[in-house]
Amino acid sequence: MNSEKRIFLVKGDITLLEVDAIVNAANSSLLGDGGVDRAIHKSSGTELLNECKKLNGCPTGNAKITKGYDLPANWVIHTVGPIWQGGTANEDAMLKDCYMNSLSLAVENKIESIAFPAISTGVYNFPLERATKIAVSTVKFFLKTNISIKRVVFVCFGTKAYETYKNNI
Ligand code: ADP
Repeated sequence: MNSEKRIFLVKGDITLLEVDAIVNAANSSLLGDGGVDRAIHKSSGTELLNECKKLNGCPTGNAKITKGYDLPANWVIHTVGPIWQGGTANEDAMLKDCYMNSLSLAVENKIESIAFPAISTGVYNFPLERATKIAVSTVKFFLKTNISIKRVVFVCFGTKAYETYKNNI
């Protein structure tokens, strides 16, 4: 199936999605924070935090996987987006790495459906339109050479993100 037909857009809360894996926009400690990270830890229960404590953090652009515990998703892929610093601190490449490394981990773990939040566009302040273009183009690029992933869902938390994704998919 061509890559576009495997990409879906939904508006809502990523913690409710019934997919093999949801991606967490974590910080480098992997010990939970605000935004989507807090929502994921709240829904998965304390076992997620216990597993995260054993991972020794995660550098920006990389990704690590844990179980999903009480979430509907079986897995959580934790990736650390770049903090926006004006655009000259390699932010675009690091954001691309988040998507590439998360998808590679998904393939390694035989994950067929995966949901992404809009990484870095909350507290980390990455401009939404620019981040969206990177998210969409990177996923399409990855899917061109991958056949094992059947469904990639972009989860938009609110109308603004939803409209931005819709215009860029
Ligand atoms: P970052 O630190 O990478 O910017 P945030 O969690 O602050 O991470 O925000 C990333 C994106 O996740 C933002 O667009 C925010 O609106 C969105 N978000 C927050 N909570 C949820 C949720 N429960 N489900 C999906 N997306 C969410």
